[in-house]
This record gives sequence, C-alpha cells and structure tokens, in this order.
Amino acid sequence: MCCKLYDVPAVPKKAGAWCGHFGMGRGCLIYDSRPDLCREFLCLWMQDPGLPEGWKPETSKMVATSSPQTGFVHIRCDPASPTVWRRNPYYDFIKNWSRQLLERRSHLLVFVGEQAHLILPDQDVPLGRMSPDTNFTVTRSFAGGRVSYEVKIEA
Ligand code: SF4
Repeated sequence: MCCKLYDVPAVPKKAGAWCGHFGMGRGCLIYDSRPDLCREFLCLWMQDPGLPEGWKPETSKMVATSSPQTGFVHIRCDPASPTVWRRNPYYDFIKNWSRQLLERRSHLLVFVGEQAHLILPDQDVPLGRMSPDTNFTVTRSFAGGRVSYEVKIEA
C-alpha cells in the first residue's frame, strides 16, 4: 500500500498511483536500490505491536503513520477503498484510538486522497483539502454530564 499511497519524488511517482517499480505479489522490483524515502519509511503497523493483524496495510487498505511535524496519527486510505475507514472493525478502533490520542493532546486524521477528516469521539469533522498551512483548534467542554468538542478550522 505504501507503494501506492504516497508521493515518492525520487522515482518519481504521485500519491494514489502504483509505483512503476512495484510488482503485484512480488513487491519492490528495485528493492536493493530503492530510494532512501522508501528505505526509511516505517508505517505504524510495522512499529506498533498494539495494532491488530487486521491493520496490515495490504489487508486493511490503509496505512497509518505518525506525522513527524505534529506527532498526530495520519491514516491514509487506498482511493480504491475510500470508505474502508468507516467500516468495522476499523471504525470502532479508529474512534477509540482518537479518544486515547486526545488524552495526550494529540489527534487522528483520516485521509482519502488530499481530503482529510479529523476524528473525534463524538464526530468526524471534514477538514477538506489539507495543506501544510491548514490549522485547526479543538475545544473540549463538559456540560450536562457529557463531553463535547468544538472544532474551528483556520485555513
Ligand atoms: S521504489 Fe520500490 S519501495 Fe519505493 S515506492 Fe516504488 S516499489 Fe515501493
């Protein structure tokens, strides 16, 4: 999946299209000379033993990473399966994951192409096309015995 979902300028390839060096069922056909970006890339499924087997990207059609800039979790979906994140068991896991991240003042974002959703325990907020300049704030409030969240997007 990472050979499809990400830009790799050194190849070059664009996000959303299979790399020309990828062989279905065979993997990278230039493995020994693959670009540094590919060599250094590690998704969270490879790093985090807490992610269930079903999150293996070739099964889930999603790749989860931790943003080096923010530490937020980014889940990128295969554009051929754009609604996979809304299906269980993934959706319940994603909601629970977002709840745990919020406790650490972090967030979970789901991307389908360039369109992002911010996942909160009580809502999924469409952020539209995310750019490095897109900022958002999340305010948590407690009223009537329940927690709610307000999101403000600043483009
Ligand atoms: S060069 Fe190899 S590892 Fe890198 S994206 Fe292409 S197929 Fe994948």
